[in-house]
Amino acid sequence: MRLAKRVFLSPPHCTTLEMDYVRDAIESNWIAPAGPHLRQFEEEICACAGMSSACALSSGTAGVHLALKALGVGRGDLVFCSDLTFAGSVNPVFYEGAQAVLIDSAPYSCNLDPSALALALEDAASRRKLPKALIAVDLYGHPADWNTILPLCQSYNVPVIEDAAEALGAFAGGKACGSFGAIGVFSFNGNKIITSSGGGMVVSNDAALIKKINFWANQSKENAPYYLHNEIGYNYRMSNICAAIGRAQLASLDTRIARRKQIFEAYKAAFADLPVRMLEPVAHTAPNHWLSVMLLESDAPRTAAQVVQSLEADNIEARRAWNPMHCQPVFAHCGYICAQERSMSEDFFAHGICLPSGSGMTDGEQNEVISRVRALCATK
Ligand SMILES: *Cc1c(COP(=O)(O)O)cnc(C)c1O
Repeated sequence: MRLAKRVFLSPPHCTTLEMDYVRDAIESNWIAPAGPHLRQFEEEICACAGMSSACALSSGTAGVHLALKALGVGRGDLVFCSDLTFAGSVNPVFYEGAQAVLIDSAPYSCNLDPSALALALEDAASRRKLPKALIAVDLYGHPADWNTILPLCQSYNVPVIEDAAEALGAFAGGKACGSFGAIGVFSFNGNKIITSSGGGMVVSNDAALIKKINFWANQSKENAPYYLHNEIGYNYRMSNICAAIGRAQLASLDTRIARRKQIFEAYKAAFADLPVRMLEPVAHTAPNHWLSVMLLESDAPRTAAQVVQSLEADNIEARRAWNPMHCQPVFAHCGYICAQERSMSEDFFAHGICLPSGSGMTDGEQNEVISRVRALCATK
């Protein structure tokens, strides 16, 4: 039976604090891309990510763009990117006229495969054209294999951008996601673990890089008593009202993560006897469980597309896993490096389904999802 009330994949989840903070922003007349909530949001995200400087921006994509620019990426440069991700982490490479080389996922996780990265770096070194940067993603809130990725990049002197858009509040080896690269990027889009209605932030321990990013995001306005521009700029600023919403959401980050973890555990327990498995945390990591991802085994009776379509008919929003970047027509010309005998990111796309995971979902709603998935995936 079709549910009367739609169950969304990861909708915004409000507390009572958002209205108070927005009211404060409006009553104090800071209705502008400047103001006290912005500065405080930056400080609070720094504390959360264990980094010393931050710049709030209009989106995570703007963050990736200016992070690339801050690392000197320009026309004709190469940038290595995670292949299995959202387009927002790869599009900005092309804004700067650079070329992306896509790196496959690891067989044991959804994240970048360090063996494929090693092959790609070796190959690039032999051609004497190393990448100007690596963008590696913490997909679905699962930390990438930083213990292996960072020393590899260090040995070739390649700086790292951590796309932590989906991973606010996740940890690996006790260190926060967002803090592993030279620059970390967060997104506060409406479907993320916290939202500012739309927005992003870059974090770094290099205050000079953040200062430069802030300058470009503000139309490259020079510090002069009249309008002076020596460089092309962008209007990538976040509004103080959006920052107020983001701060209110951030105050309950821990309970949001706890709830998403509970949702993940409930799916796992409910599907234990089905020909499916849940995407599990890798050892020594504490993901934020942004989305619970179910992987169909080869003997599952339906395809991922059929499961998603049937759930949709019941008014339940599930989504296929990300379609790899090397399969996108717009990126088909990019290099793509695999270390396994077949593409792991294509495998993941073929079998992965993101299930409703919002921290505001009730047990009753999750039970409806569970009973329908069980009916679709049971072999007898
Ligand atoms: C959401 C997302 C982005 C883009 O963030 P926006 O704020 O939507 O621009 C980039 N990378 C990944 C992995 C994302 O999930």
